[in-house]
Amino acid sequence: MEPPHAVPPPQGRPNPAPTRRRTRLAPSPTGALHLGNARTFLVNWALARQRDWTILLRVEDLDTPRVKPGAIDDTINTLAWLGLDWDEGPLTQLHDLGPYRDAMCALASRSLVYPCELSRAQIDAAASAPHAGDAEPRFPPELRPSARPASFDDESTNWRLLVEPGAVGFTDAFAGPQSIDPGAGVGDFVVWTKRAQPAYQLAVVVDDARQGVTHVVRGDDLLASAARQLLLYDALGLTPMPEYTHLPLVRGADGRRLAKRHGDTRLSTFRDRGVTPQRLIALLARWSGVADGPDAMDASEFLHAFDIRTMPAQDVTYTQEDERWLLA
Ligand code: GLU
Repeated sequence: MEPPHAVPPPQGRPNPAPTRRRTRLAPSPTGALHLGNARTFLVNWALARQRDWTILLRVEDLDTPRVKPGAIDDTINTLAWLGLDWDEGPLTQLHDLGPYRDAMCALASRSLVYPCELSRAQIDAAASAPHAGDAEPRFPPELRPSARPASFDDESTNWRLLVEPGAVGFTDAFAGPQSIDPGAGVGDFVVWTKRAQPAYQLAVVVDDARQGVTHVVRGDDLLASAARQLLLYDALGLTPMPEYTHLPLVRGADGRRLAKRHGDTRLSTFRDRGVTPQRLIALLARWSGVADGPDAMDASEFLHAFDIRTMPAQDVTYTQEDERWLLA
């Protein structure tokens, strides 16, 4: 994003070379890349290859409490089996927490974060509005401590970011103009966890910024998170903020986001049952607006056929007929 009052370069001096556009594939190594994840990664990859963005593979091993042995390799192998490739990485997160600690120190020095030992039950009890299902409850501002420390001095407790009321506006390249108020939604959210690790929101911003990611493409379950992440970019003084593309999700026949309850839709299971990546991609292509695609299609054929302008804006449903078709 351009600074609001960009100073034009002095006459006679060439403009600096534009920085290269970069995206990332950021799977969590949970061992469960399913059809929904696969569609998002395939579209992210195809957009990048169509538009000549550099692709970075970042396996988000902070996302899961315990990474099982072999899970990182399995995740990488599954993406490669599907036919995706990347230019840099794989990078991981857990082996060096230094950059996230530095970010916490910067936030603490500006008194923007505070430690918080309240349990979820205590927060729920204090929250005035009920929240739906597994949605994160809003952290009531009354529970904020009156003073905030000026240094990040305790890694083994949760820390929250001070979130002022107000909408964060941005234009999503797929979902369109957004106005999301994290203060009204989640309130002060956790940026560091008592597991002595950064929370997802902080880790993703620190990584995207230091790895020069300019284009973030992912499922629209993270649309509300984008507003939180933009608050963190701002609080940390990081630029440029990425352009976001949030894609619709794949749902089960019950309308819920594709998950274990819909049976085993892991790519590795389809692979073990003899389904080819070309067959899977043909299904993902149909779901992505590639009309009259063949019954089998490899990643490079998808790349040539895919057009983001014809991608359906609604979520798609994975049905029993789809499963039968895959396994036929
Ligand atoms: N690792 C996250 C996931 O697999 C992706 C987060 C992101 O793209 O920001 O859901």
